[in-house]
Amino acid sequence: MLDARAISLVRAGFKSVLAAENGPALLARSFYAQLFVDHPEFRAFFPASMDQQRDHFVRALAYIFDNLDRNERVESFLQQLGRDHRKHGVDGTHFRAGASALISAFRNFVGNEVWTDEVEDAWHRTLALVTDNMAVAADSDELPPYWGATIVEHQRVLDDLAIVRLQLDEGIHYYPGQYVSVQIPQRPKLWRYLSPAIPCNPQGEIEFHVRRVSGGWVSPAMVTESVVGDRWAVSPPLGGLQIDRGIDEDVLMIAGGTGLAPLRAQVMDMARRSRNPRVHLFVSGTYPRDLYDAETLWQLSLSNPWLTVVPVTEEDENPWWHSGPTPELPWGMHHRLHGPIGKVVTQFGSWADRQIQICGSPSMVRTTLYALRKVGTPMEHVQHDPL
Ligand SMILES: Cc1cc2nc3c(=O)[nH]c(=O)nc-3n(C[C@H](O)[C@H](O)[C@H](O)COP(=O)(O)OP(=O)(O)OC[C@H]3O[C@@H](n4cnc5c(N)ncnc54)[C@H](O)[C@@H]3O)c2cc1C
Repeated sequence: MLDARAISLVRAGFKSVLAAENGPALLARSFYAQLFVDHPEFRAFFPASMDQQRDHFVRALAYIFDNLDRNERVESFLQQLGRDHRKHGVDGTHFRAGASALISAFRNFVGNEVWTDEVEDAWHRTLALVTDNMAVAADSDELPPYWGATIVEHQRVLDDLAIVRLQLDEGIHYYPGQYVSVQIPQRPKLWRYLSPAIPCNPQGEIEFHVRRVSGGWVSPAMVTESVVGDRWAVSPPLGGLQIDRGIDEDVLMIAGGTGLAPLRAQVMDMARRSRNPRVHLFVSGTYPRDLYDAETLWQLSLSNPWLTVVPVTEEDENPWWHSGPTPELPWGMHHRLHGPIGKVVTQFGSWADRQIQICGSPSMVRTTLYALRKVGTPMEHVQHDPL
């Protein structure tokens, strides 16, 4: 457990990185350069393009440093991260080797005047906590680093969105709301997180909803190049998005685009139980066409009176370039509301008596958090995946 002084020194150091021009990118470059100088053999674990890797690295650091005073949360995140890295072929020794490269990167960044013995000690203790948790979790995990799966159905529901159904070679146990890392044959070594859109089942069927991100490395291939028969690799589940059944609070779920997937999986799981809290699910997209799953959600709400589904779009009309039909919203469904999702949801109040989950693109999650904060929603009630 770190003391408050060490936490504040580490946070101050990282804040100076975030505040500097190109700070996060420079820190990440310096870290990987030092790592590959110290251990040239590590380069083979990483893809040719390191952009996404560096981005993930800085985001993970930000999440860890933000949560250093919440022991349980940070340790669980680090252990998941350690286990997840096994898909790259690394083990505990690699994490411990990485700590010294990170210390050098920070020392180079902040400069010798700021790098006192006390600062160095705080960094050593923090990174020991980080690497020990990751190393022990990676070395003690008995699950395989990933499983094989075969695409059995690839449905292009929109020009830029596909529903991909796979048959896992072996059933993976995941909780609804968790996510997994996926590698596809068209883009080896480029793992991307996806959230299963259905609960796990003994048949080993899994379903993903994938949006093509313009200019992205992997999602365009998942949407436009993947075909039935392709073999994907799926790593063990991560994340802790879940409804707390131990407290007497109803639920607010806010989905943007394919961020619907982990919320849908939870609602489907709840539909198998006899008692549930009330759930308000706001499902949003930019255009009416983006409400691609309205029919399934409507059917779920018909047979589950605890579930209310409210469709929302930012724009009232489809874009001029949209071709193909836009399915009508099912008759009887709540009428479509219009506006930025954060603004629409907070029109109804602060939802202070709800447990809240937000899922969507990083910008959708950030703007929705901002809107909730502005109306006084208690932030400890809000969950979202690391951005
Ligand atoms: C916990 C978690 C769960 C996820 N679940 C899903 C899911 O179920 N379905 C799904 O389609 N995607 C999901 N994603 C996003 C997915 O992992 C990829 O980030 C996304 O598909 C882009 O990958 P790419 O290789 O095409 O783009 P990259 O080459 O990685 O990035 C290209 C550019 O696009 C930006 N970018 C990355 N992601 C997004 C985004 N979502 N919106 C806007 N810009 C973006 C990057 O910052 C970069 O500038 C999830 C992400 C996380 C962290």
